[in-house]
Amino acid sequence: MTETAEPTVTPEPAGTAAEGHAADPAATFTELYGKTPDGIWAAPGRVNLIGEYTDFNDGFVMPLALPHTAVAAVSRRDDGVLRLYSTDVPGGVVSLRTDELTPHSGHGWAAYPAGVLWALRTAGHPVTGADIALTSTVPTGAGLSSSAALEVVTALALNDLFDLGLTPAELAVIGRRAENDFVGVPSGIMDQMASACCTEGHALHLDTRDLSLRHVPFDLAAQGLTLLVVDTRVKHALGDGAYAERRAGCEEGARLLGIPMLRDLPYEDLPAGLATLADAGAAESILRYVRHVVSDNHRVEQVIALLDAGEVRAAGPVLNEGHRSLRDDLRVSCPELDLVVTAANEAGALGARMTGGGFGGSAIVLVEAGAADAVADAVTKAFAAAGHAAPGIFTAVPSAGARRLR
Ligand code: ADP
Ligand code: MG
Repeated sequence: MTETAEPTVTPEPAGTAAEGHAADPAATFTELYGKTPDGIWAAPGRVNLIGEYTDFNDGFVMPLALPHTAVAAVSRRDDGVLRLYSTDVPGGVVSLRTDELTPHSGHGWAAYPAGVLWALRTAGHPVTGADIALTSTVPTGAGLSSSAALEVVTALALNDLFDLGLTPAELAVIGRRAENDFVGVPSGIMDQMASACCTEGHALHLDTRDLSLRHVPFDLAAQGLTLLVVDTRVKHALGDGAYAERRAGCEEGARLLGIPMLRDLPYEDLPAGLATLADAGAAESILRYVRHVVSDNHRVEQVIALLDAGEVRAAGPVLNEGHRSLRDDLRVSCPELDLVVTAANEAGALGARMTGGGFGGSAIVLVEAGAADAVADAVTKAFAAAGHAAPGIFTAVPSAGARRLR
């Protein structure tokens, strides 16, 4: 908790994804398995620019891929054996049999890649085993989707090695199935779609109802802007139950409104919808959840219009409004995330908001490039003054989605 005079903006990993890694997954693979891998694949983490808690309401989201990636060295096997290793966790190689994979059966971190193989086999794809060595620069549990990066890199490698011919969106769906049904973590489709489908220099406008998407140019550097990611490095235990409670509340709201999903309530009809809910005797919390989802869906459309018009700076207040909605209506923020937003804005940021599931994790800050260091410094000082551990701060450069490296 010491203050530092050093600049707090750490650079993103340079060059190709593999170069940004401390560990070389190909060398690790050869050391472990005594052969060279068939190939190397990478899949990124993501931050969501706007549209939070909308993806389980069939709504819009707008993530961008980070330069941080999970990288996997993989070889195909045809004998029903799956071997998994991560340079980032202790415990050595996990060895499993593909025909014995059962949902919710533990395996810790290895359940994510094993779940992908299970999901592929369950969908009828003849995946007969693999040797996998993984390493990742995506911070874990920071709301930057290290889990989706792991799933998508595994799915892409198996897709190539077994000639499955699946599209990036289909691989994302497999990854989500692994996370929801095999690991047992409920989540929407945004994270996997972002990791599988994003392109460099763009944010991804995704309609989570039908997975239709558009790559929206988001060249921050050309506009003289910087998007900071502030990892609060806290994770409040509250998060798990709260997600399920918000999700159930949104479903109840849609049911009372007589619509399939909250996505189906147009923003213009929000006041009338809230009145209907009040008349129906809905809990006060349901009115707040509905107001958040419908207004955040609208904010995605606002931000897209601003980006398309080249008015990126004007997105700042929309980010602030999104944070206010997550804090006061959905109530998924926490003191550390609120502090990032307050301190950044006081130091001259254009706008800021929590990103991801909340209760800790990360916030994003849109700032003039020339003011990025000062704003990062102000946030770090505010954390120290409040007695919080120093946050991790880096620049989000809109990066490529999952790909084969060699
Ligand atoms: P997030 O996706 O926001 O980072 P999650 O809780 O969804 O957080 O996923 C984090 C989990 O994913 C970790 O606890 C671990 O099980 C797994 N994971 C992520 N990255 C790695 C890695 N490099 N090696 C092994 N497991 C990882
Ligand atoms: Mg995750």
